[in-house]
Amino acid sequence: MLRDGKGRRRDYVRRLLAGFSRPHALIAVPALIILSIVVLSSGCPSSEEPVSREELGLFDTRIEIRAYGRNAKTGVDRAFDELARLHNLFNAYDPNSEISKVNSNAGRAPVKVTSETLEVVERALYFARISGGAFDPTVLPLAKLWNVGAENPRVPSEEEIRSALALVDYTKVLVDSEHSTIFLEAPGMGLDLGAIAKGYAVDKVVSVLRRNGVNSFLVNAGGNVYVGGKKPGGTLWRVGITDPLADPSGTERYLGIFTGTDISVVSSGDYQRYFEVGGVRYHHILDPKTGYPAKNLRGTTVIGVSSTDCDGLSTTLFVLGVDKGKELLSGFPGVEAIFVKADGSIEMTPNLKGRVELQR
Ligand code: AMP
Ligand code: MG
Repeated sequence: MLRDGKGRRRDYVRRLLAGFSRPHALIAVPALIILSIVVLSSGCPSSEEPVSREELGLFDTRIEIRAYGRNAKTGVDRAFDELARLHNLFNAYDPNSEISKVNSNAGRAPVKVTSETLEVVERALYFARISGGAFDPTVLPLAKLWNVGAENPRVPSEEEIRSALALVDYTKVLVDSEHSTIFLEAPGMGLDLGAIAKGYAVDKVVSVLRRNGVNSFLVNAGGNVYVGGKKPGGTLWRVGITDPLADPSGTERYLGIFTGTDISVVSSGDYQRYFEVGGVRYHHILDPKTGYPAKNLRGTTVIGVSSTDCDGLSTTLFVLGVDKGKELLSGFPGVEAIFVKADGSIEMTPNLKGRVELQR
């Protein structure tokens, strides 16, 4: 049986997407459904209505920005302009994006890129290095083979996995920061920034909002959340973190609620994009050592000031598992994590105690 997350809502989302002409739009379907994190309304209602705008499609997900204050409308509109600009640079499934130009020149020539593409690729390579390749932004050939989240995902043969894995190697990405170029050394290689681009975009949006005088806001880019300032009335934001164990056809269930501000909360998990064959779930976070979906965990949530780093780390920790993940986190002071292990049990870094209300 082929099934994706919350299959019952798939037709609804497909209808919403009907207006998108880009071929990659359909690839987004399951990701649009499970957002991992929601921002909950507080117990203290305020009379001030926020400006709220939601869009489907950018970064292949649903993005919501809610903002309070005088400049909220301008800030939110400019934030969406920025998201569209970054989406067009980083989308590996759009042949005209900057990343696709780098990919189509693999093995042939370095490609000149914008400072944003250079910056996000350099940060992705940093996570690749510190994780020994558990995080690898050259996972595209493998991701395309599995096609999780697209129309016809399938379990590839061992031979296909071996061939794709031969093209996954972050050490073959040559970045020339002086000339602002990126070169993939072997033909057939491809960059996939899916594990870090949304976090980077959220950080950029936060800067746009603050530059425009907006200081009370939330950004939720498909589960990459940032909450800024306090809500009118002085309340902090409450962020609900989806429980990977919740029944996808049931109502949303949270594993915990985080309360805070000026901080990012990002989750990765086996419940966001997946398909099932013969009762086995195959999800979208791939272990570059095996070529198969990573098996150590069901979910990770990372909390810290940089959304780019939270995004990079949530994927990295998901592949590494609890022990190696905690070791790696020790190099990131102020960054906290929640792990949901294969048996469903929850482990949190000690500083989160008292800041996350566990719901089970
Ligand atoms: P996230 O939801 O942030 O954990 O990112 C998952 C996405 O990152 C996938 O849909 C792929 O596009 C990409 N990806 C999958 N496996 C890896 C990996 N091991 N390292 C880096 N990116 C990956
Ligand atoms: Mg990530």
